[in-house]
Amino acid sequence: QKELLNELKGKENVTKSGQKINLYANIGSISDIGLVLKNDAGGVGLFRSEFLYLENDTFPTEEQQFSVYKKAAESMAGKKVIIRTLDIGADKQVDYFELEKEENPALGYRAIRICLTRPEIFKTQLRALYRASAFGQIAIMFPMITSVWEVKKIKEIVEEVKKELREEGITFREDVEMGIMIETPAAVMVSRDLAKEVDFFSIGTNDLTQYTLAIDRQNLKLDPFYDPHHPAVLEMIRIAAESAHAEGKWIGICGELGADLELTETFLKMGIDELSVSPSMILPIRKKIRETE
Ligand code: PEP
Ligand code: MG
Repeated sequence: QKELLNELKGKENVTKSGQKINLYANIGSISDIGLVLKNDAGGVGLFRSEFLYLENDTFPTEEQQFSVYKKAAESMAGKKVIIRTLDIGADKQVDYFELEKEENPALGYRAIRICLTRPEIFKTQLRALYRASAFGQIAIMFPMITSVWEVKKIKEIVEEVKKELREEGITFREDVEMGIMIETPAAVMVSRDLAKEVDFFSIGTNDLTQYTLAIDRQNLKLDPFYDPHHPAVLEMIRIAAESAHAEGKWIGICGELGADLELTETFLKMGIDELSVSPSMILPIRKKIRETE
């Protein structure tokens, strides 16, 4: 079995009828990149940047972040590295953010909501990301989007950051791809308008399932009810794909569901362009794709 999978290294992710899809890897820290390359992923589809904040006693500096993003870009040697901006709050608490205790943390002050209300934290991360863009193929994506205005606001802040860097004579890529995560039903319902604003979508099926089914993803008691195969969740994914393609944008899946071999064929039929999964799932999914008509 292992040898069979090993033989798939260097091969394309292509179905028998010729449909291709990108297979990228999810990582939680820079030390995972060895595994990404070893398993022959085409890129990094989700770099959860939270570890930078979680392992620190205070806000990571621009330099600290820059060196990590630069290293990720360089280690991937020209392959795409999609870095997600901080997704702190709810299940990921960090003391120095001094977040208030909330009744409903999953519906609360988290992720992009923190970034848009504390732009100094957001801008430090964006500066580090843009500076690192000169060293490889970095793309940036934003978590927990619900509204078009949020994306417009993000783009304004990005423009401010780029202007500052330009004025300081710091080199960066002007055309860094910018995407959003689709992980709320609201984002799906306005996906056609969101698609006009960004370069790509990446579906966070863990949160999309939680918010679509109104089921706390952390409550083990609710496990029997937490069903990412629920037709409502699959329909959300289908609609998001249709919207992205109608606007000429690409769409990937970076939540756990992307690695579900029972759904690989369904995702291919929907025209999903990229699946981002844990490194160890790259070759099994490649195998599945190559066996599919
Ligand atoms: C998701 O919600 O599916 C996702 C990929 O993000 P996280 O699991 O980090 O919330
Ligand atoms: Mg999420």
